[in-house]
Amino acid sequence: MKNLIDIKRLTKEEIDTIITRAAEFKTASQDPARGEINYTGGISDFARLGERLYRANSCANKTACLMFFENSTRTKCSFLIAADKLGMNVIDFNAQTSSLSKGETLKDTLDNLYYMGVNTIVLRHGEDDITDKISKEVTLPLAFINAGDGQNAHPTQALLDYMTLLEKLGTVERKKIVIVGDVSHSRVAKSNLALLNKMGADVHFFAPEYFTPKNKGEYAAIWETDYDTAISDADVIMLLRIQTERLNGEESEMAKHYSEKYCLTSERLAKYAPDAILMHPGPVNRGVEMSSELLDSPKGRTILEQVRNGVYVRMAVLEGVKG
Ligand code: ASP
Repeated sequence: MKNLIDIKRLTKEEIDTIITRAAEFKTASQDPARGEINYTGGISDFARLGERLYRANSCANKTACLMFFENSTRTKCSFLIAADKLGMNVIDFNAQTSSLSKGETLKDTLDNLYYMGVNTIVLRHGEDDITDKISKEVTLPLAFINAGDGQNAHPTQALLDYMTLLEKLGTVERKKIVIVGDVSHSRVAKSNLALLNKMGADVHFFAPEYFTPKNKGEYAAIWETDYDTAISDADVIMLLRIQTERLNGEESEMAKHYSEKYCLTSERLAKYAPDAILMHPGPVNRGVEMSSELLDSPKGRTILEQVRNGVYVRMAVLEGVKG
């Protein structure tokens, strides 16, 4: 894999390869003494497995530069931890204090970073498609990983969500996966849709009218018109954060009333989809997409499992890209 720009460009086999590698890293990273996994091989076997996996990677000479132009907790920290676990060098690039503020172009900045020894760029940016555009502009052999570009794509989020679902369900084929909330501004929704469709899931969307994309017909999904009907008997409910930073004035006004109708509570979940797996890419707005009490309940636990899997998926991606 040269770059990771968009799920749409990955084959099913490439997705499986990333997830398999992430699962290997997870197995090797976890400490059986803390009861994190059911590993029956004993501590010494476990340590050998870990050593073999880590030594097998070719990352020690790699340098990643994390370029985050939008705020992030999970994605940025997990890329940092992943790179560290792989023995890579990591630069946490600060756009505000860099020479971009003196007018240097992004392309020139990247060329310079390459000449300092950087070979992998992890880019988060507010502009749609920027990772694709800049990867074509830069002719030096840098690998690009899209860590979220505007409202367009967030491929590592979709991969870590898929890994979590495989752990819980074994397969997503023919599973009813309902994606709910601010669909129109969500890159998470688009990347998950692309991946889940490829893997044979039945993807449903529910969004209030003000968060329904104008081009909804281009989304290969079933559009629901009622929240409770949408989540009924779902295998998975994936809630999306309201993207307050991307809303126009009118949308912001409407969004103030979102929680009155669409906040998911334990009672609502128990009534319509008691067995559903509950997911959220984070950050969660407590009391908006879901009640605080639901987030803190055992059902909310999967959301932290998603976060943990993010480290291993990002290890697999950092290892896998070759500029
Ligand atoms: N963290 C995810 C993203 O960067 C989801 C969100 O912010 O709502 O897209």
